[in-house]
Amino acid sequence: MSLPKCSNCNHQFKWISIFKRLWKFNQVIGCPNCKTKLYPSSKFRNKVSYLSLLCLFVSFGLQIFNIPNFALIPLIVILWVCLVLTMPYIYSFDSKERPLW
Ligand SMILES: [Zn+2]
Repeated sequence: MSLPKCSNCNHQFKWISIFKRLWKFNQVIGCPNCKTKLYPSSKFRNKVSYLSLLCLFVSFGLQIFNIPNFALIPLIVILWVCLVLTMPYIYSFDSKERPLW
């Protein structure tokens, strides 16, 4: 896993700049080096939806094992925090905005 690079000038983005952008409605990132506008790729958006679904299934799946709530809730929180923290690494850019499907 590596952090995404600008498709135009190969500038490597910082984890924190991608992470901050993920929380904004407008996810277009401007490259600080060449000022190119970069859009989240449909591949990235698909990966995020599959990973979120996987986390959701695992969260519900853990309840089958009769894990007590005081252990289950931190486990689920850790799972989601891990997902959110790794998102900048799976981020990929596209030079054009494309529909999700
Ligand atoms: Zn660039």
